[in-house]
Amino acid sequence: MHVRSFNKRVLVTGGAGFLGSHLCERLLENGCEVLCVDNYFTGSRNNVVHLLKHPNFELMRHDVTLPLYVEVDEIYNLACPASPVHYQHDPVQTTKTSVHGAINMLGLAKRLGARILQASTSEVYGDPSVHPQPEEYWGNVNPIGPRACYDEGKRCAETLFFDYNRQHGLPIKVVRIFNTYGPRMHPNDGRVVSNFIVQALKGEPITIYGDGQQTRSFCFVDDLIEGFLRFMETPEAVTGPINLGNPGEFTMLELAELTIRLTGSRSSIVYQPLPQDDPKQRQPDISKARKLLSWEPAVPLEEGLRRTIDYFRSRFF
Ligand code: NAD
Ligand code: UDP
Repeated sequence: MHVRSFNKRVLVTGGAGFLGSHLCERLLENGCEVLCVDNYFTGSRNNVVHLLKHPNFELMRHDVTLPLYVEVDEIYNLACPASPVHYQHDPVQTTKTSVHGAINMLGLAKRLGARILQASTSEVYGDPSVHPQPEEYWGNVNPIGPRACYDEGKRCAETLFFDYNRQHGLPIKVVRIFNTYGPRMHPNDGRVVSNFIVQALKGEPITIYGDGQQTRSFCFVDDLIEGFLRFMETPEAVTGPINLGNPGEFTMLELAELTIRLTGSRSSIVYQPLPQDDPKQRQPDISKARKLLSWEPAVPLEEGLRRTIDYFRSRFF
């Protein structure tokens, strides 16, 4: 199935970030008009500079914790720092972005009768005791730990989305994104894939937190964006939450070794303390996405890593 949308005016909040910039690109390719809104906290104009001359692209600096008055047909709400380093930098602002941001964007969607997609996260499952994680699992989140600003902020945003749906009949789509990587991750982002690639390319030691036996499942960005677009096109009754991610599960040690091999680096591996509340395992159950969106990831980790390494090499080394 190949989904295409035409002539819609689409708002992408967080559009100058890693995922948002890829989404803006795909929407423009599909013939949409795109309004990209971002406060550049972790994103940058550079991520969308190649789109600025596109006649259907508009860029606006705006913080989603403040109301926004625009006219659009669809909204993708991605604004929120995603890297633990960044979202813990100003945790109060992180919660505000998720919660006030959701209220503002839902209010906008309600006034316009617009469909709205929320970029939620596998972090709503916390440090999961059910593995792999199906959407029915309610999660295991520490509500007062250092990750709570993000995890609970995103959980509250999900609550708001479903309440707007029940109370106001608003057409919502909630996607729970599992670790996604690819070109345009910020080199100082702090997330594991970009950290390892940058360290390997610099010949610096690869920093594994803990013993490296914790697992994550890594999805290449193009696959994820395809899932977003398919989800947005589903009938109104399909609200989610739907997991999107690549079920291939790897330990951080395996990821470090693969990154060293693919970059041809001579980096050593060093072990550093595991951050508090770091989830031990994470793997999406994507049965729902397979069934409802006819979607599954097409890019295996090794291929996606090669493409990401090429990007970092060409841009920064
Ligand atoms: P990112 O940090 O590259 O992008 C987030 C964007 O939001 C940035 O451009 C940032 O400047 C912007 N932003 C932050 N606060 C804002 C505010 N108050 N107002 C306006 N803009 C604001 O991260 P990403 O990986 O592209 O993540 C995008 C979304 O997807 C986030 O909501 C994140 O929680 C979610 N997500 C991502 C992943 C992943 O693995 N990449 C996993 C789960 C969820
Ligand atoms: N991690 C690591 N070294 C790094 C950065 C992260 O070992 O330089 C680990 C981190 O402790 C976690 C995993 O990699 O277990 C994924 O971390 P990331 O910040 O990318 O995302 P998370 O899934 O934890 O939100």
